[in-house]
Amino acid sequence: MVATQIRTEKVQQSRVQSVDWNNLPFGKIFSDHMFVSDYRNGEWTDDRIVPFGHFTMHPASMVLHYGQTIFEGMKASKLADGTPVLLSPLDHAKRLNASARRLMMAEFPEERFVEAVSQLVALDQDWIPPAEGSALYLRPFMFATDEFIGVRPSDSYRFCIFTAPVGPYYAKPVRLVVEQEYIRAVPGGTGEAKAGGNYAASLLPAYLAQQKGFDQVVWMGGPKQTQIQEVGTMNIFFVIDGEVVTPATDGAILKGITRKNFIAILRDKGYQVTERVVEIDEIVAAHDAGKLEEMFGAGTAAVVSHVAELQYKDKLMVLPDVAERKIGPMLKKHIDGLRTGAVEDKFNWLVR
Ligand code: PMP
Repeated sequence: MVATQIRTEKVQQSRVQSVDWNNLPFGKIFSDHMFVSDYRNGEWTDDRIVPFGHFTMHPASMVLHYGQTIFEGMKASKLADGTPVLLSPLDHAKRLNASARRLMMAEFPEERFVEAVSQLVALDQDWIPPAEGSALYLRPFMFATDEFIGVRPSDSYRFCIFTAPVGPYYAKPVRLVVEQEYIRAVPGGTGEAKAGGNYAASLLPAYLAQQKGFDQVVWMGGPKQTQIQEVGTMNIFFVIDGEVVTPATDGAILKGITRKNFIAILRDKGYQVTERVVEIDEIVAAHDAGKLEEMFGAGTAAVVSHVAELQYKDKLMVLPDVAERKIGPMLKKHIDGLRTGAVEDKFNWLVR
């Protein structure tokens, strides 16, 4: 691998001393530096790490009109000896590029992505929160920068990575409602891409669900809208009569990296995991038969988000107490342990 030249301009005075580590609001505090690269004339140029700060934008920047914008969400943590580590950064690089292809944006070379996050995290490693379960959240993203009005792919893009320290994500068990009216994604659409527009489209249904007292919606798909896709911004897992089941990715579901890692951990531990179509009726039947043991969301932010209640039409299903669950809590502990070195990195997912 050819070492990438990243020009680095450091801040004169770090802001890290001003952080209240015991009170970290999610996504509001940003570290000292950011990585930026610009795509012009068919190549990524001027890779640089610079003080975190604003961009100036032309009002006709294409991203503001036609929505060519994609992102990733990942975390850096510290091993017990203080070494900063990233979990599965190459998978995030690959997914960013899969999103780029779907939105006709420029791909960023994957090794260069890993090098950029590594150098940025190494420089801002004092921003990795010390408490267990806390992390430095990384936000790689890309957007169209041509100054042009008219629908076509932009010829220029900016790729940026900034970081934000986040506290332990206390995910209280959630109440969900099966979405009956709005649709997040269909095969052939953009659901498999981490594209800004997908999140914009999810806001109204999420708001309406919250008005009714739910935390999030369960997204449905399939020809009759009876197949479970995801929950909020997480992939979904069920434990039915001892078997772990998760919807197969079909072009509409985001290919979560937590999902992929969970499947690998579970199979390695000898659990049976099935990726297939999951019909809402079978979840209702499993619940009624007392066989729906667990249901949880899987994603980078919360790792595991236990489902307490599930509303489908007029039926409210209450799931077993979290204290009685085994698989979701085990997976959460496993990922948190990997991030601090307490659990062996059997699959070589960590990058130091
Ligand atoms: N689905 C959606 C729609 C998401 O936004 C996310 C968060 N990236 C996930 C699933 C979970 O993906 P990951 O495990 O890679 O964070």
